[in-house]
Amino acid sequence: MKGLYPDLDSHTPVLQNKKAKTILVAEHSGFCHGVQKAVDKTLAVGEASDKPVYVLGQLIHNQQVIDHLNAKSIITVNSLDEVPQGGMCVIRTHGAPPEVVEEAESKGIEVSDATCPDVRLVQNKAIQLAEEGYTVVIVGKEEHPEIIGIKAYSQRVPGSKIVAINKVEEIAEKLKDAPRRRIGVVSQTTQMEENFFEMVKELSKVAKELKVFNTICPATYFRQSSALELAGKVDFMVVIGGKNSSNTTHLAEICLAQGTETIHVETYKELEGCEALQKADIVGVTAGASTPDWLIREALDYLQSL
Ligand code: SF4
Repeated sequence: MKGLYPDLDSHTPVLQNKKAKTILVAEHSGFCHGVQKAVDKTLAVGEASDKPVYVLGQLIHNQQVIDHLNAKSIITVNSLDEVPQGGMCVIRTHGAPPEVVEEAESKGIEVSDATCPDVRLVQNKAIQLAEEGYTVVIVGKEEHPEIIGIKAYSQRVPGSKIVAINKVEEIAEKLKDAPRRRIGVVSQTTQMEENFFEMVKELSKVAKELKVFNTICPATYFRQSSALELAGKVDFMVVIGGKNSSNTTHLAEICLAQGTETIHVETYKELEGCEALQKADIVGVTAGASTPDWLIREALDYLQSL
């Protein structure tokens, strides 16, 4: 967050409005290195190309950034069928199944890979566990694009068994047809730590041998821990970011679990008329790893204007 406001430092009261409301900003919030790289790379590809560039699925889970890219003729598509032959296709931060990349190349579509290195690491760890003969459990949501990619890569290992489990209550059902003696575990990069540890604990009751890679990415860890710390100091938390963003949603859940009244907004406009915000003396602000600086700045400007 440094650089957004010149005088902004960790947990420094950055402003006091007419009602002497104090606003504190989480030490770690906003764009992570993976998202920043992906956005920079995609914009550079767009600038260098004389034809439209297509991104397979949302590059990052933030609609405002997607709209911004769209305005620069960088178009989000849901399927390769929407990309013309000879076109340019960007693989998003969450990665994509290898079959998709192969299909694109076979159709003469140029591929630019913006998969985050931290996601690539999880793909490789899942492959390793599958090759070592473990039943692989990915802690995360089955339908999340990152999980779809990790699963697809590790399923290429002959004889592999890969299962995505998001909640401990799902363990029995999800593992009912899988060998349970040796289980290997990885996590969706943006998983909540508490949920991951809970899952590992429960899986240790099921397996005779458990091998665990904590693949929650450092950016997620730092954003979660600073949101938790800040939520303990304020009356009200504002969490900014996509409603479809796992990491942003988890930040809101963490603040709520801390017992702090919290609102999750995509833009400052959703703060208008918020009574709890009006009443709060100290307001905390954080933002997910896919939230650009300009959306955070707008929210801070709005809070300052109250
Ligand atoms: S949240 Fe983590 S895994 Fe996701 S893009 Fe950022 S650094 Fe990469």
